[in-house]
Amino acid sequence: QIVGKVVIVTGASRGIGAATAKLLGSNDYKVCVNYLSDKNAADRVCASIADNGGVAFAHEADVSDEAQVLDMFEYVREQWDEVTHLVNNVGVLFTKTELINVSAERFTKVLNTNVLSAFLCSKAFVKQSVAGGAIVNVSSIASRTGAPFEYVDYATSKGAMDSFTKGLSLELATKNIRVNSVRPGFIKTDIHADGGEPGRVERLSSQIPMQRGGTADEVAQAIAWLLSPQSSYVTGSFIDLAGGK
Ligand code: NAP
Repeated sequence: QIVGKVVIVTGASRGIGAATAKLLGSNDYKVCVNYLSDKNAADRVCASIADNGGVAFAHEADVSDEAQVLDMFEYVREQWDEVTHLVNNVGVLFTKTELINVSAERFTKVLNTNVLSAFLCSKAFVKQSVAGGAIVNVSSIASRTGAPFEYVDYATSKGAMDSFTKGLSLELATKNIRVNSVRPGFIKTDIHADGGEPGRVERLSSQIPMQRGGTADEVAQAIAWLLSPQSSYVTGSFIDLAGGK
């Protein structure tokens, strides 16, 4: 039985990760707000959690680096206790382009940041887990659309995340650790500016059956449910948050 809930949310300084960290912070989780470079933003997320009566600290780590992942898990254990919940949220994409322009270096960066990170964090999580808990992987509907002419490398990384979710959920099915995934569609965050088009969600809204993009808070709600005892019989499952897309 899990007594205290301790969660690591990777890439939680902004966007979906930040929204998830804040929601979990208001639901009695102690929250490790992982970030890569934006300490001020991560500190603001922690301050918001504290303002709502929650407990959090920011922790800088490149989660595609195994030593930094192990240090982060060790640090959280020292501060609180074992990590009972994990949100593998980190994900990056680069400028929209077709396959022929994607360098091996870019491909490797995308795969390492989006997939190796989840692999390393999950491995560290499982190794230290006694009470059990739950993992949520943040994939994308790009895993089934393929994102042609834009980010085939990114879509490939999300396809890998879906396979990883399935395989790990089966490995852990009898170990009291559930593993699930959310697959957002077009969510209003800063990731689209990184792809070179800050107004991407607005441009594509008319192609979404619900005629609008989603919010980070809407994705966070699904993540929180998949982490919670309310989803106790759900493992190896995927929730698409894409307005019908
Ligand atoms: P975002 O706003 O671009 O935020 C990315 C976060 O990841 C930032 O907090 C960043 O930290 C952190 N980060 C990047 N590389 C890292 C690393 N190596 N180690 C640790 N942290 C790292 O992203 P988002 O839009 O919220 O997306 C979150 C997840 O949802 C991603 O997996 C993305 O693929 C997925 N998703 C998003 C959408 C969408 O429309 N937004 C759609 C489908 C799927 P710093 O700021 O400190 O650098």
